[in-house]
Amino acid sequence: MFGLIRKIIKDDIKKLYLPITLMILDSFFAATFFGVLYLLIIDLINQTFDNNKLKLYSIVLFIAFSLRVVIVISSYTLNHLRGADIIANLRINVSEHLRTLNLGYFNKNTLGNLISCITTDIANFERVITHSLGDLTKSIFLSSYIIIISLFLDLKMGFSIVIMIALSIPLFYYMKKYATKFGLRKNIIVNEVISRIMEYIDGIKVFRSHNQTGKKFKRLLDSFNNFKKESIMLEVMLAPFNLLYSIIIDFIIPIILLLGSYLLLGGNIDKNIFITFIVIALSISNILKSISLHYSEYKCLEISANKILTVLNKKALDYRYEEFDFENFDIEFKNVKFAYEEDLVVIKDISFLAKQGSMSALIGPSGSGKTTIFNLITRFFDISEGQILIGNQDINDINPEFLLRNISMVFQDVYLLNDTVYNNIVMGKKNITKEEVIDICKKANCHDFIMKMEKGYDTLISEGGNNLSGGEKQRISIARALLKDAKIVLLDEATASLDADNENEIRQALNTLIKGKTTIVIAHKLNTITNADNIIVLDKGKILEEGNHNILVSKNGYYKKVYKEQLEAKTWVI
Ligand code: ADP
Ligand code: MG
Repeated sequence: MFGLIRKIIKDDIKKLYLPITLMILDSFFAATFFGVLYLLIIDLINQTFDNNKLKLYSIVLFIAFSLRVVIVISSYTLNHLRGADIIANLRINVSEHLRTLNLGYFNKNTLGNLISCITTDIANFERVITHSLGDLTKSIFLSSYIIIISLFLDLKMGFSIVIMIALSIPLFYYMKKYATKFGLRKNIIVNEVISRIMEYIDGIKVFRSHNQTGKKFKRLLDSFNNFKKESIMLEVMLAPFNLLYSIIIDFIIPIILLLGSYLLLGGNIDKNIFITFIVIALSISNILKSISLHYSEYKCLEISANKILTVLNKKALDYRYEEFDFENFDIEFKNVKFAYEEDLVVIKDISFLAKQGSMSALIGPSGSGKTTIFNLITRFFDISEGQILIGNQDINDINPEFLLRNISMVFQDVYLLNDTVYNNIVMGKKNITKEEVIDICKKANCHDFIMKMEKGYDTLISEGGNNLSGGEKQRISIARALLKDAKIVLLDEATASLDADNENEIRQALNTLIKGKTTIVIAHKLNTITNADNIIVLDKGKILEEGNHNILVSKNGYYKKVYKEQLEAKTWVI
């Protein structure tokens, strides 16, 4: 058990040594209670009890009691304080570790797992560290003392207790098996419940507009029901073993009574020993029962601990340089291959060069790999083969956080924080004056609408930015990017049809943003990229054709076909 705990909390385990030692010490003093009880019973039977003995036993009991009070209070307090400390560190470690992971790790599938890991699993772990661990240690030590003493007192009687305990051991094997099996199943369901809850909340607007609330709610309800079923299943599967264990352990008492009477009648033991064993049988059966309870909790810990370990063992992104002085801001793809899932190659041998300060456009049907190319430049995902270079430097060698400092992204879904407009634009950037922010907002065409808001720049934006229109949100994100002033700009144009005014304002703001920057834009409307330096036409993860507008039109290929269609339809959207 300690091995597993040590794997997770590492050197912090030393903080538990003192409280656990105190608990072992307490179990020793608890054993003296039984000792005095034994002596008292013997004295009463033999009529050797007198005032002196009363005094002696009282003093011993009083000392043992006082020591236990002090030890128990200090060990529990220490255990709780240090346990809380260890768990706080663990939460920090897990969060810190998450920061170093490939952002691609955080997708819909892993989020439920991660959330339940940080909440439920760490809480399970905490409960074991602050409660069960101490109690279990104490029970194991106390029962070991009692067994050793009983073997010394009478080998046959002692041995019969050992046999009963040995009989119960296979049950632990089954408890372990089912607790793990059904615990894991319950775990999967917990992740599913969390994912469904997120899906439901996330999509509530979309579901409503498509009249799907009922259907999605059913999905959520189904997972709640599954959860209920699995929880009951876990209890039901463990209950028979727990009961059987209790019965076997309870059997220690009649066995000792029968065997003791038999031995007593045959003159093999004296009545003092017999009485002692009755006391032993009564106390050890209680202690042993508490062990099975803590054991089930420990099994839960094992599942949770393994989950925490999987998260902690997830390989962090490695790199050579914390910071890097780029020669220039050319972006180059060299024979890049990439698959989100094995055997499903999404990017197949792509090579292109986006020169510093130029504008490249990615076009192609939905699913052709445009967004994926952005995910690779930002190292949200790591490529499987080939190289991506910025200024001739492989991006895998650079600290991903530093890499991202050099890239501004303006995406279709703009996520705004539940904070003021001002803070949403500044995003923690230091050394910036209000005047500069206003100046930038004017360039991003958002100053006017911000000033029309209730409290101007101090207006609170609701979570996700629901009190702003799509165009307004996008202009705020452009202001953000302008302020960041990174040398590389990745732009995912809006597919949603914006009204002409909004579109014009956004276009102007974008033109300011990309001036002099290495820009790659995912274009959905061709009319916005006719003056791009290079247009890359993607299809099924491959480059179909490449060149500027004039070259591509002269090629008589895919681009020309779509361009013609666009001229005819005027609203060409991929
Ligand atoms: P585009 O942006 O051109 O529409 P994407 O780059 O988003 O295309 O997707 C390319 C392919 O990769 C698609 O087949 C898509 O289903 C798949 N894909 C995209 N994101 C993921 C992901 N996170 N996990 C697995 N597959 C993905
Ligand atoms: Mg896309």
